[in-house]
Amino acid sequence: MALAEKYPIRPGSVLVPLKEALGRVLGEDIHADRDNPPFNRSTRDGYACRLEDLPGPLTVIESIPAGKNPTRTIGKDQCSQIMTGAMVPEGANCVIMQEYVQTGPEDRILCTTTKTDGYIDTQGQNLKMGDLVLPAGTILAPEHLGIISSTGKVLVEVTRQLIIGILATGSELVEPVQTPEGAQIRNSNSQQLAGQIRRAGHLPKNMGIVEDHAEKIARKIVESMEQLDLLILTGGVSVGELDLVPGTLEELGFHLEFQKVAIQPGKPITFAQRGGEACIALSGNPVSSFVQFEVLVRPYLEICTGAIPINKWIRLELEKGYRRKRTNRLFFLPVCFTENGNCEPVEYHGSGHLHALAKTIGFAEMPAGQTELSKGDIVNVRLI
Ligand code: AMP
Ligand code: MG
Repeated sequence: MALAEKYPIRPGSVLVPLKEALGRVLGEDIHADRDNPPFNRSTRDGYACRLEDLPGPLTVIESIPAGKNPTRTIGKDQCSQIMTGAMVPEGANCVIMQEYVQTGPEDRILCTTTKTDGYIDTQGQNLKMGDLVLPAGTILAPEHLGIISSTGKVLVEVTRQLIIGILATGSELVEPVQTPEGAQIRNSNSQQLAGQIRRAGHLPKNMGIVEDHAEKIARKIVESMEQLDLLILTGGVSVGELDLVPGTLEELGFHLEFQKVAIQPGKPITFAQRGGEACIALSGNPVSSFVQFEVLVRPYLEICTGAIPINKWIRLELEKGYRRKRTNRLFFLPVCFTENGNCEPVEYHGSGHLHALAKTIGFAEMPAGQTELSKGDIVNVRLI
């Protein structure tokens, strides 16, 4: 997103113990501190010997468990017993599996096969010392923690997590613990967004609810911004008389970079900035704000933190068709997996239908200009 280049939040990096690094964005390149494997390594339990001496008989000159350096060099008609992961002794060029060996008297063995694919991983076949093993920007998964551990690092540089405030606007809103009366509804967006922010690797901060009242919104924005890297608002961003958020941001000296994006759901969205500060105002409709976060905010955060995005698109066959009336926007259709490993639309009544998300695994894309997806179509699904 060009915006992140233009209005970056650059959080810098911090050093954390590896056990706290899961899900964080790696802030440094990680290099191998030794070859991998670090020595010629047996991949089987058996006997290390010279291929040309097979099938024997061979004399066993020592036993080499994993972790012990061999002390003897293999000469003609000699072998060393060896375990998986142990260092292959000098002179040997193959390992014969235990299963193909008969033991005889006086430390002698006879092989029942001359077949071996070597069963030796050679030093440096996976990595050479100094090779780049993980680039800065990697979003750290468990396997990455294993890779970093293997280089001997116990502290790792990661991008600082952004503190992202969530402010719900709307006079109809009450907090989930309250019982709504009459025309009131519960604020579900704040918890949903907090989860999305956490899943994106950052720290949500709930700034509560504010009514549709310009001065109160302004006060709350000013107060919130002091404690945050970024403020996300929901509600009040459209064109209604009480959609006061964009105007209020402007009054506070923010520049409105854009106020609409041609996606459905989620058309009204304001990106506002003032100096180094940024506010993103999302639609109040729960499905809209969800989609806006996934499609626009998350990539923005990835660019701000230098994260290498994980590809979250797959192509799936659609088992049931879907039609829509208006076609002027890129449509994100909530879908679920089917038993056959394909996908189908979930029951979806529009952007206020929060419960449609319960079974949703992602959004199938219908390009602007297209009214229909048919059974059997292969669709791009953006996984969530
Ligand atoms: P708005 O964007 O303010 O026009 O709101 C659009 C719809 O989303 C309205 O039906 C609101 O009641 C609803 N809505 C707004 N904010 C929230 C929220 N925080 N949680 C759940 N629904 C909301
Ligand atoms: Mg509203």
